[in-house]
Amino acid sequence: MSTEKIPYKIYLDESEMPKSWYNLRADMKNKPAPLLNPQTLKPMTAAELSGVFCEDLVKQELDNDTAYFEIPEEIRDFYKMFRPSPLMRAYRLEKKLGTPAKIYYKFEGNNTSGSHKLNSAIAQAYYAKKQGLKGVTTETGAGQWGTALAMACSYFDLDCKVYMVKVSYEQKPFRREVMRTYGASVTPSPSMETEVGKKILAAHPGTTGSLGCAISEAVEKAVTSDGYRYVLGSVLNQVLLHQSIIGLETKTALDKYGVKPDIIIGCAGGGSNLGGLIAPFMGEKLRGEADYRIIAVEPASCPSLTRGVYAYDFCDTGMVCPLAKMYTLGSSFIPAPNHAGGLRYHGMSSVLSQLYDDGLMEAVSVPQTAVFEAAEEFARTEGILPAPESSHAIKAAIDEAILCRENNEEKTIVFGLTGTGYFDMTAYEKFHDGKMSDYVPTDEEIAENISKLPKVN
Ligand SMILES: *Cc1c(COP(=O)(O)O)cnc(C)c1O
Repeated sequence: MSTEKIPYKIYLDESEMPKSWYNLRADMKNKPAPLLNPQTLKPMTAAELSGVFCEDLVKQELDNDTAYFEIPEEIRDFYKMFRPSPLMRAYRLEKKLGTPAKIYYKFEGNNTSGSHKLNSAIAQAYYAKKQGLKGVTTETGAGQWGTALAMACSYFDLDCKVYMVKVSYEQKPFRREVMRTYGASVTPSPSMETEVGKKILAAHPGTTGSLGCAISEAVEKAVTSDGYRYVLGSVLNQVLLHQSIIGLETKTALDKYGVKPDIIIGCAGGGSNLGGLIAPFMGEKLRGEADYRIIAVEPASCPSLTRGVYAYDFCDTGMVCPLAKMYTLGSSFIPAPNHAGGLRYHGMSSVLSQLYDDGLMEAVSVPQTAVFEAAEEFARTEGILPAPESSHAIKAAIDEAILCRENNEEKTIVFGLTGTGYFDMTAYEKFHDGKMSDYVPTDEEIAENISKLPKVN
């Protein structure tokens, strides 16, 4: 171990930025279950998927064997606007907590879209452009993915249609305007623009929407418009692949100083930032080269890993997408509207679901007021105003650091700080005014949605 004091920010050189993404699936003994065609219940073929997704992305989606995918030069050039991202040592937070633990966080909020989502948005826009498409459609929940995709599409001069979960559309007008600034069109979902949107509105008048429902609309729009494909900001294998750049950079930075983490923590919505952050570390664990505790942190209001079941389910509320085997609360599950912003998806990435089922990682769920308390403590010590999603990881990291204090253990904790919270001030306002509540779904509510899972095998 180097005796040099570890700097507050470990910056890598541009030349140290990874040149390939790492595909964790290549090292998994139990591969994630394949997507199934909802009609035939047979694995989706490349030809079937190509109607919805770009060709190169379909190849990445289905490839469980190739360990490294070279990052095309145009994507690397774009990455250089905001990457390598810094790995920070939370000296001030450690001091405030009085913990012997060493806390590091990988900060992905250093770009205008404000989150890690740009890592995959630029890759997906690149492959769409390469295929000669006119544009892409997508959904966005809290708005970070839509913002990132709008930026990426404007860079490659692609049209970008975003279906935004209605509650966010109303609560986050500024995100919507950032998207429009980058040239995207934004529609609140559910909308009357699509057949599936009309159906959902008829069945649930006044619904505040959900990611699953916005996905159905975006997919329908893509498959019914010439020269368009659908893109997704999380959950899919390809997105985890692109996000592996987070973990690869983290590992390079830690290796430079001879630091080996004991615990790696990330918030988990659809699982992409966590899947990306842990990729090279989990790879070592799978190959028996090292061991790490890996913790997924989810909101108590949308607890897919901790309270869901591992089963085939629809990826969307409208049941137009393929079936994915994942930890799920049921595609009909819609988180309570008082739940602030992101991490609202009913299921979890198939890769992470399989790893969790194999006992290779842990999961915890945390209530939202505790998350905002952690966010505020972090802002006041480290200076960065964190996104509510990221603050789930902060909360778990603080809890682990306090345990280290109680047990007098000098563990090294690394967590993913996925983004900034400047567009989430309505949620912060509720928290400050004491108007934030901790809705946790009842067992009956969860069981009811789970009972509607599609019957597979
Ligand atoms: C979208 C988002 C998340 C959650 O998505 P994952 O796919 O689970 O990573 C977390 N943090 C921020 C800031 C986000 O924008």
